[in-house]
Amino acid sequence: MAFRQERVDTSPKVFDEIKNTTCYMCACRCGIRVHLLNGQVRYIEGNPDHPVNKGVLCGKGSSGIMQHLSPARLSNPLKRVGPRGSGEFEEISWDEAMELATGWLDNCRRTDPRRLAFFTGRDQSQSVTAMWASKFGTPNHAAHGGFCSVNMAAAGLYTIGGSFWEFGEPDWEHTRYFMMFGVAEDHDSNPIKTGLGQLKGREDAKFVSINPVRTGYSAIADEWIGIRPGTDGLFVLALVHELLKSQNVDLDYLVRYSNAPWLVREEPGHPEHGLFLRDEDGNPLAWERENNAPVNALLPDISPALAGTFEMPDGVKARPAFELMANRYLDASYSAENVAERTGVSAETTRRVAAELAHAAFEQEIELEVEWTDWAGRKHDRMIGRPVAMHAMRGISAHSNGFHTCRAIHLLQMLLGSIDCPGGFRYKPPFPRPCPPGPKPAGKPGEVKPMEPMPGPPLGFTTGPEDLLVDENGNPCRIDKGFSWEHPVSSHGLMHMVIHNAWAADPYPIDTLFLYMANMAWNSSMNTKGTLDMLTDIDPETGEYRIPHIIYSDAYASETSYYADLVLPDTTYLERWDCISLLDRPISSAHGPSDSIRQPVVQPDRNVRPFQDVLIDLGARLGLPGFVNEEGAPKYPGGYADYMVNHERAPGLGPLAGWRGEDGESFGRGAPNPDQLQKYIENGGFWHHDLPKSQQYYKHANRDYLEFAEYMGFIPRAEQVVMQIYSEPLQRFRLAAEGHGDVQPPDDLRERVKTYFDPLPIWYQPIEESMVSLDEYPIHAITQRPMAMYHSWGSQNAWLRQIHGYNRLCMHRDLAQEIGVGDDDWVYVESHNGRIKCQVKTMTGVERGTVWTWNAIGKRRGAWNLDKDSAEGEKGFLLNHLISELLPAGSGGRRMSNSDPVTGQAAWFDLRVRITRADDKDKRSEPVFEPLQRLPGALDRPKDLRFGEEFLPEGSWRRRQS
Ligand code: SF4
Repeated sequence: MAFRQERVDTSPKVFDEIKNTTCYMCACRCGIRVHLLNGQVRYIEGNPDHPVNKGVLCGKGSSGIMQHLSPARLSNPLKRVGPRGSGEFEEISWDEAMELATGWLDNCRRTDPRRLAFFTGRDQSQSVTAMWASKFGTPNHAAHGGFCSVNMAAAGLYTIGGSFWEFGEPDWEHTRYFMMFGVAEDHDSNPIKTGLGQLKGREDAKFVSINPVRTGYSAIADEWIGIRPGTDGLFVLALVHELLKSQNVDLDYLVRYSNAPWLVREEPGHPEHGLFLRDEDGNPLAWERENNAPVNALLPDISPALAGTFEMPDGVKARPAFELMANRYLDASYSAENVAERTGVSAETTRRVAAELAHAAFEQEIELEVEWTDWAGRKHDRMIGRPVAMHAMRGISAHSNGFHTCRAIHLLQMLLGSIDCPGGFRYKPPFPRPCPPGPKPAGKPGEVKPMEPMPGPPLGFTTGPEDLLVDENGNPCRIDKGFSWEHPVSSHGLMHMVIHNAWAADPYPIDTLFLYMANMAWNSSMNTKGTLDMLTDIDPETGEYRIPHIIYSDAYASETSYYADLVLPDTTYLERWDCISLLDRPISSAHGPSDSIRQPVVQPDRNVRPFQDVLIDLGARLGLPGFVNEEGAPKYPGGYADYMVNHERAPGLGPLAGWRGEDGESFGRGAPNPDQLQKYIENGGFWHHDLPKSQQYYKHANRDYLEFAEYMGFIPRAEQVVMQIYSEPLQRFRLAAEGHGDVQPPDDLRERVKTYFDPLPIWYQPIEESMVSLDEYPIHAITQRPMAMYHSWGSQNAWLRQIHGYNRLCMHRDLAQEIGVGDDDWVYVESHNGRIKCQVKTMTGVERGTVWTWNAIGKRRGAWNLDKDSAEGEKGFLLNHLISELLPAGSGGRRMSNSDPVTGQAAWFDLRVRITRADDKDKRSEPVFEPLQRLPGALDRPKDLRFGEEFLPEGSWRRRQS
């Protein structure tokens, strides 16, 4: 018998060069080391020195190779020559593409800059895109936060000056009780995984997951609480009830760090009812128990009352915010028994979890022998910690009650005294910031003029009716109706409403829709079929599309490419400069601030340009202030890399904090350093500053940290950040709805504003759920992100497709039995907006009244340069078809957006459905669309997409025998 013999080389040469850059296979921004052989990407590993992932690389990160080599990559600028959606394009030069884009944009700018709506998806350059929009003069700009997790961000920033993920993290080292509410696995992916690994390795720590579905992180929780979707806020407020009732609340912490003692005016009907009483200098007042008199609540060493009703010298009555809060949640309606039916969590479980929280916080107190100085200059010889930490993301955010639920979670953390202390939730610099931080959004009437920049950024933080972007009749100024009476605190805009409102010319028509990296003709839109109709709808009066021009930039031939008039092909993340900036979406840890870069590790082999280079070029061609110098020449002729080094937001403050100053010796502030990028490259692609131990906790009240934060430009002044259990900005909106003040809501929105702008966290039934018949639609339907995928990018990746090539509708076995289906059976799923067909997978780790599926696996057949018969198109499906961007008509016939009424967050997870067995013979998911044809210039699409074979020695039996 003859054996094949091959000499095994145990140390093959796998690279001849390594370049450090930042992963972009999900939102975490881990450091990676890209191994190159003969100038080609050979291998990707995690950067062991990087502060985000410390060498850990996930499956997505490794699969970046196939993202970089994807046949879906666009290769040339494209101009539409056939009807929208037909895929009829011609390849054009970049000169022609830029002239076309500049012409449309210039026309908008000269006539009415609002005619441009510029929205970006999951891009990581939002400080430059926002600046560009502001200099262009349009308020119609946002990134994807409005349909992702603005509730989480806004509620945190208005409550504690920070939030989860990019804003803060659990103290993994010391936490003993960790609660995770809902989640999206593509946010904070590797850091959470390594943190959970740390917790699971300790016997004294418990991980409790509250999630209708037991997958992903929940699968390794010590306790899984399969809550009903949209009821987390009620469960949290029941925990608050139990803690208040058992007096397990850290009153000292609340007095020192929150507005619990601030006096709230009690004078119903008065224009300032419910606002804080203030002294002549505007300081809030508290009631000093020692001398029984009002006192400036911001003074140190006072002993303010937390309960009681107090009469001021002028006769005005007031009560501390704490008392209002405690009275509210001590009400029996929040008892564990009374919320059990709605939440699906037994009273016994709620009470036990409350007791466990109290035990961890107060019986397992931590002391670190670290001296620190508080904001008032008082020295402390140790740091006291309450080892309870929490985390939440999109699972909580994507409900129409998500803002208040996120506020409730932060309230719970405050009551336990566990924010930024050892063992608790910890801020990541540049957070905490004042609650809320600045700036205010620009774009009011009079602030938008042809050929002029706006006086500020299009997004910001409103603190009362006078900050809204509305006209004198209360009508919205923005195309997405952000910062209007419909959603006054929409800090991230409402991307999910842009196409609908532009199509409906409500509040006005636009000319050009400019999208970057947002697959809005498919998985990033609600009501996908309706959205396609809107994109292709022709105005009979003009004979033009109702949205006349669509410019789209992406690296890949997504479904949205087919609906653009002009496609600007972007590079892959391994072919570009990028800046993960502290001015933008920071990657710091609780130990200190960090930022990082991407560098081109390989050069593009197609006729593509990095989007940020293109944007900067467009800015120069249009002559936008900030993008041209005094002579009118391009200010950043070197593109984004030039901008990253030389742009200054304020003197000395630029996109990158490391190696500033002409000699590169300073950080945080300093003149631009021409060698800055080289320094980043030499340091592995990132900069990190470890805070001294004395600054690592209590950052909201830590004098040395606050002074550092002021120096770095994180906060305007080194003043204590006071956490807000009671939110005065919300009360200001409510007062307006009650008829007070000059800026008034339209009458048909008064009740809505009064209801939802409660200064204390509230729970209400998710709005869609309250408007549809629950007999007709008895089942909750939600989506999740798998760990192995990052939105539609991941589901075309040759390696990752092998993990999730199609999705199923997952349901509890009991529910499946009721419906009369089993594994692999086909079902119809119907909502008030439509019907889909898909296949079933049964399981037990899911709340019985809830079905779920992975998001963004289903693809339009033929898109992404995939075969039209690929599983993603045949068996993959989207719930998006079922979710409407509009709620059912209310009593006045008006249809409001399907959003959180405070922030405008898209309420993806409020969906209610009914499910029936599908017995027809066609075994394909529905709706079925015509396959898309390949775009001109589409790359070769080999039948088997292989990688690595070319690196094997000639004659190796492992090479394909072809
Ligand atoms: S967690 Fe995200 S950023 Fe980190 S390696 Fe994985 S895909 Fe890349």
